[in-house]
Amino acid sequence: MNVATRTIRLILDLRREGVTDTRVLAAIERVPREMFLPATFVDQAYEDVALPIGYGQTLSQPSVVARMTQALDVPERAKVLEVGTGSGYQTAVLARLSRRVYTIERHQPLLYGAEKRLEALKLRNVTTRCGDGSRGWPTQAPFDRVIVTCAAPFAPEPLAAQLAPGGVMVVPVGRERRDQQVLRIRRTAADDFHVETLWTVRFVPLVAGAAPEEARP
Ligand code: SAH
Repeated sequence: MNVATRTIRLILDLRREGVTDTRVLAAIERVPREMFLPATFVDQAYEDVALPIGYGQTLSQPSVVARMTQALDVPERAKVLEVGTGSGYQTAVLARLSRRVYTIERHQPLLYGAEKRLEALKLRNVTTRCGDGSRGWPTQAPFDRVIVTCAAPFAPEPLAAQLAPGGVMVVPVGRERRDQQVLRIRRTAADDFHVETLWTVRFVPLVAGAAPEEARP
């Protein structure tokens, strides 16, 4: 089966999973997932599975990326903050949907790989940073949308504080891997947040603080 056929099948699978937002489906269709994986896993690029990307991290399964992106409901003019760049796959999907994406990753070698892929795809509306994303990006705040792609022990207050009025954050929360839920938090007023619990998930944990020194690949 070639990439075009696999992509069509993936899109049909996502529709069956309840992803109906045509902007989200079109963005996913235009990001070649095989580019974001180590060579050994390229064959599985269009299966609905999470796959290893090195440094103990994973590229989330396409249905999770699609549902989280749909839940984020990204307007075309949005300024988006992503915590946990990883391979850059979710970043690329967000870059296709928004005005600009600010993305933070704590592992320098992963960030470097993501930057190269985004460049190859000519996605120039992404600004990257290596560091601890749990503090957000204060000099670029406020953000219209915030997405966290690793599980926080509790809803991260500094990130909620960096939401613009009416802004939305989608974040997996939970200390145990088998007990995580995706929350959607909307800033309804300066001091008021509306929280919804969406679904159960399994994400790698958000780790606060800097990563150890790592060589670039
Ligand atoms: N969205 C990614 C998924 C990567 S997994 C993709 O599409 O490939 C989650 C990522 O969050 C990992 O790369 C991990 O290193 C990163 N991470 C964990 N804690 C972090 C923190 N405090 N700040 C920034 N990145 C973090």
